[in-house]
Amino acid sequence: MIRFSPLLLALAIGSLAGCDQSSSPATPQAKIVSTARYGATVNADRLIFADPREWLSHGRSYDEQRFSPLDQINADSISSLGLAWYADMDTSRGQEATPIVVDGALYVTTAWSNVKAFDAKSGKLLWAWDAKVDRSKGVDACCDVVNRGVAVWNGKVFVGTLDGRLVALDSATGELVWEKMTVDTTKPYTITGAPRVIKGKVIIGNGGAELGVRGYVSAYDAETGEMNWRFYTVPGNPEDGFEQPELEEAAKTWKGKWWEQGGGGTVWDSVAYDPELDLLYIGVGNGSPWNQAIRSPGGGDNLFLASIVALDPDDGSYRWHYQTTPGETWDYTATQHIILANLEIDGEERRVIMQAPKNGFFYVIDAITGKLISAEKFVPANWATHVDLETGRPVEMAEARYEKTGKPFIVYPGPQGGHNWHPMAFNPETGLVYIPAREQSTGYVSDPNFEASIRGWNTGIDFAKGAALIRSSSDAVRPRQSYLKAWDPVAQKERWRVPQPDPGQTSGILTTGGDLVFMGNAGGEFVAYHAQTGERLWSHITQAAVVAAPSSYVIDGEQYVALLVGSRGLPEAGPGAIGATTDKSTNNSRLLVYKLGGPATLPNKVIKLKTASGQSDRPAPPPVTASNETIAHGEQVYGRYCSVCHGPTAVSPDVGTFPDLRHSPRIGSNEAWASVVMKGELAEQGMVSFAPSISDSDADAIRHYVISRANQQD
Ligand code: CA
Repeated sequence: MIRFSPLLLALAIGSLAGCDQSSSPATPQAKIVSTARYGATVNADRLIFADPREWLSHGRSYDEQRFSPLDQINADSISSLGLAWYADMDTSRGQEATPIVVDGALYVTTAWSNVKAFDAKSGKLLWAWDAKVDRSKGVDACCDVVNRGVAVWNGKVFVGTLDGRLVALDSATGELVWEKMTVDTTKPYTITGAPRVIKGKVIIGNGGAELGVRGYVSAYDAETGEMNWRFYTVPGNPEDGFEQPELEEAAKTWKGKWWEQGGGGTVWDSVAYDPELDLLYIGVGNGSPWNQAIRSPGGGDNLFLASIVALDPDDGSYRWHYQTTPGETWDYTATQHIILANLEIDGEERRVIMQAPKNGFFYVIDAITGKLISAEKFVPANWATHVDLETGRPVEMAEARYEKTGKPFIVYPGPQGGHNWHPMAFNPETGLVYIPAREQSTGYVSDPNFEASIRGWNTGIDFAKGAALIRSSSDAVRPRQSYLKAWDPVAQKERWRVPQPDPGQTSGILTTGGDLVFMGNAGGEFVAYHAQTGERLWSHITQAAVVAAPSSYVIDGEQYVALLVGSRGLPEAGPGAIGATTDKSTNNSRLLVYKLGGPATLPNKVIKLKTASGQSDRPAPPPVTASNETIAHGEQVYGRYCSVCHGPTAVSPDVGTFPDLRHSPRIGSNEAWASVVMKGELAEQGMVSFAPSISDSDADAIRHYVISRANQQD
């Protein structure tokens, strides 16, 4: 059932001879048996070979293709695909991890960086590990307290925690082996990305460029936890000397005192590795602050922001880089998923890197040299007309540089990107890349009063004015939409697309040797499409919105597909909504595992919110009593400090996780409001005090802004 060449098949049998017994069912003495199982034998050879019967690393194999050659579940058999087992994740926060499957165990991370291990066949919980992340750390997370998964190596499971630790757990028992703090804890660093293990080194980056940090990626010895090397993606203060020789050159592309606000360039998601070239590739994030006129007054390319950088995995030394967005000023990270593949281009087989970063261009780059091969828009983009293939540089539209012209401008894609972290997938049999794509515009307005602070987004952009710009110019704004897009990377052309139910949300993708593309959606479904045509072949109601990517594996001759579901409350509409109202129900975060003939059914369970802020018993809002000036000030402060979680224009995108403040019983009382906003009464739930950043009168102005919004119809 695995489409292998005879040579590869022989290799597979040979390399697995020692662990065939590992696919027998778990016994009651699982702990004893498991010391010889469960990730104990993962080594360099196994990771490079990446047997398709397991899912050994984040993107399945080091090339991060997220292609499973398995084909027992295929376009013909899929009608009998059913739920084999499921497990509740005990949280209403987002689920972004890809399940890792090795030696019969399945490992996932869940919200707050917690780890769970299951028997991959039976679904029995083997162990669970609580990262015990201080809930007040949640305020530093740009985009919920999520985690995208673990890495496994030589009997250890590695996870990066939201508060910046790299942790090694015993893969059989979940006991702590070692942990290292990888960040300066006085700064708003977070880790949400999955580690990768390359040649015995655990590679880990971090996030925080929205708040003001300096990006880097580090390697730690998998056995001891000692740091092997660290590569900074942006230069620090030249007076302190440069940690790496190429940073001296990079510093020439910056102006002003960029280091005072960190500069950004965090490596918060993508890592890929080519064992033959022995090159490690990292995706580098946006600038901090976003607004380049503030970050680097006078411009410059600001290396290595928004770049793919190739490193030597042994010592972290620089090999080459390709910058997708020189002098980025729109949050155009190049941290999106990097895929390595062999493509035939102009009659020649080339080893290439493919990336569809936020900026809307699909890049094909020579994996050996870093030279651009081709770049075309995979979604509409108005910040650049095209990419010049000679220079490798985008040809920008002057108006899009709002920070230079001083004039507000609606740019697409916006900061959510034409494609975000949700992994895309490449199927070498169809030759297509499947991209979870979306279209979205954002009003960029420079904030002339910008001052960096410790608890707000330090972007240098006035979000309130940007939102107003969008509201007042609806004709100029492209409709928001999202879709699964099949992209031919050689022709750089779309082959087909399937619209997705939520215009603002997409999910990760798996493609298989069974001619299938698997993708969940925000409408609460898990769907399989034909990889050639996009025809919808199968779906299952997940009772939760989906953002994560599935993985696939085989045990005892049966192919499984595993997926974490849960994000942003229950689906509001569509087949997966199970008649629940999102105002009253948190999401059903779960691990769902499927196989042909799977007999399990989900309980028709709707988890109730603990707080009573549902639509039916919603009290009438207090009357508007504040001046327009106060409300406008409140809107501005809200835009900077509150909107990321509680939603732009005070409409919560996810009432299951972030209360819709318009319906808060606290908005009628300055005291009740201040006890949360300024005194941190709900810090244990992640709502810390904002007293370090805003004044009492700022807090009250926010309250009056929310009251004014509660009295409006939209
Ligand atoms: Ca960002």
